[in-house]
Amino acid sequence: SGTLFLVPTPIGNLGDMSPRAIETLRAVDLIAAEDTRNTQKLLNHFEIETHQISFHEYNTKERIPQLIDKLEQGLSLAQVSDAGMPSISDPGSELVEACVAKGIRVVPIPGPNAALTALIASGLVPQPFLFYGFLSRKNTERAEQLAQLTPQTMTLIFYEAPHRLLKTLKSLVTAFGEDRKIVLCRELTKRYEEFLRGTLAEAVEWAGSSEVRGEFVLIVEGNQAPPEEEAKVVLPLDQQVEMLIK
Ligand code: SAM
Repeated sequence: SGTLFLVPTPIGNLGDMSPRAIETLRAVDLIAAEDTRNTQKLLNHFEIETHQISFHEYNTKERIPQLIDKLEQGLSLAQVSDAGMPSISDPGSELVEACVAKGIRVVPIPGPNAALTALIASGLVPQPFLFYGFLSRKNTERAEQLAQLTPQTMTLIFYEAPHRLLKTLKSLVTAFGEDRKIVLCRELTKRYEEFLRGTLAEAVEWAGSSEVRGEFVLIVEGNQAPPEEEAKVVLPLDQQVEMLIK
């Protein structure tokens, strides 16, 4: 059968498209793209003439058997998302899972990714880290997710859309307190790339005082408080009594 290539694309700077990524997109029979119009611009830029088929979160279920069919017929396929690595807060993982289940070869090509690019310049402890991606948009769900993350000592990585940044920063303050360090990594690899370093409280102030534009990765310091003494297990009264009797 054919091979599925996972091809990362630039997160803002076309210079980050690797020669191997270009060669692969040229060589495959078909490109499965999250947004074919968006990817067409990239293909035009690099003079790649390979045909595309749409593959996004809304047609994943029906597409996977079709793509698996093509792979089993011996065609080679490249999967791309709009930017960065496929499968990382983007479509892809279910197709990979299906290929693995069918014994179809999967070849990952290294390349641009916003999370790791942000992490290495953050100045915060780079490992261990926990990549979370997007928090839920629903208030209660987000609060639950953050409550689970509060004791986490690893450096945390979040993605967020600009119009939701302030709200998310406020929920981070509610869950983690005002003093945790955060680095807002904005417009990575682009002309207005910048790193805003400070506490969560300062980040809220910054995001509330100006119009928030561009793309952001949030790198948040892990919980620095010493681990609390393990709560002593208190048995319910009837069990205590039972033990006394024994
Ligand atoms: N697959 C991509 C990757 O490997 O990084 C991530 C796709 S996800 C749908 C888009 C999010 O990634 C944005 O909302 C933002 O949080 C982050 N992102 C993508 N490009 C970025 C950039 N140039 N600068 C900062 N953040 C970026």
